Amino acid sequence: MKTIGLYLHFPFCIQKCRYCDFPSYAGRENRMIPYLRALFREMESYASLGQDYEIGTIFMGGGTPTLYDGDSLVRVLDQCRACFPVRKDAEITVECNPGTADPEKLRILAKGGFNRLSIGLQAWQDRLLKFLGRIHTRQHFIDTVHWAREAGFDNLSADVIFGIPGQTREEWMETLDQAVACGLTHLSAYSLSIEEGTVFGDWKRSGKLREMEDGQERELYHQGITLLRQLGLVQYEISNFARQGFACRHNLNYWRNGEYVGCGCGAHSHLHSMRYGNGRNVDTYIRRMSQGESAVDFRENIDDSTELFETLMLGFRLTEGIRKKDFRNRYGFSLSSGYPEELKSLKSRGLLEEDEEAFRPTSLGLDFENVIALAFLK
Ligand code: SF4
Repeated sequence: MKTIGLYLHFPFCIQKCRYCDFPSYAGRENRMIPYLRALFREMESYASLGQDYEIGTIFMGGGTPTLYDGDSLVRVLDQCRACFPVRKDAEITVECNPGTADPEKLRILAKGGFNRLSIGLQAWQDRLLKFLGRIHTRQHFIDTVHWAREAGFDNLSADVIFGIPGQTREEWMETLDQAVACGLTHLSAYSLSIEEGTVFGDWKRSGKLREMEDGQERELYHQGITLLRQLGLVQYEISNFARQGFACRHNLNYWRNGEYVGCGCGAHSHLHSMRYGNGRNVDTYIRRMSQGESAVDFRENIDDSTELFETLMLGFRLTEGIRKKDFRNRYGFSLSSGYPEELKSLKSRGLLEEDEEAFRPTSLGLDFENVIALAFLK
């Protein structure tokens, strides 16, 4: 029996953040109900997934899933259970933006079976939240965490961003310190990436916005890791930190190159040696589902050598690295016999280290994940 992940995408937001290039749209509230119907249909199309699969994790992301009322999200979860064999001990996460969930909604979600909440904080300082185009203040975040704990959530994560133009070291340290003090079990810390097609992208092109310099951004990253360790959150992936036993199982499956199904516009799937992605347009998705068509816009076959490369590329993002026994069981040969020169070179450059159980990236290796990945690209 294979345990896989299930991702559901909810593409609606109150307003578009200035840095965001995710498939998420503001001002489309009138499509929220038709979208749910479409999502239900797509899930039903997986009824023939097969007896050999079970769902170990469900992640409802966005967008802002919590723009929906609690009962609707619980109905979606019920539909997951109706269409897929969901394990009893499944990790079930819903993303929540502060300002879109009150105590009642959080109570309904916890009672309905959600057991992990991932909250978009991004920064502790209201001035930075405003600059990023977020809809909320830090007080909204504090309230959300408090209400979530009262509702019964004991697995709470937050997303934060560093490298924001104008963000000081003190502000970054305060963000981490205060967020963790609220009682989080998990934190994802991402470097701001300025993408074409966003407000920040336009500002960068016109010279209105200057990205933080690399050296300064790296300094914030390393200072953040040190502080989080002192606060009891251990780094388990380049951008992810958790208290003991609270690593995100859903994302671990991605980094271990496991299989997953994604439903909703813009969602991707990796199944049966294929990778496929749904189109990002909400109306097209709704129309295709209502007409019984496929939501998929692209498909690619993952051949054996690509699959192997992806396992190495993703696995070395994790501090646990690649366990020798797991690798041998999966591919029928040992990592050291398949890549003797590559491993020797990466070890001599201080990017990988080896013990009896695994090859792991060093802290330098986590900084140069691309160099590690490229070494295995044949
Ligand atoms: S809330 Fe999240 S998904 Fe929505 S616009 Fe902001 S960053 Fe994008």
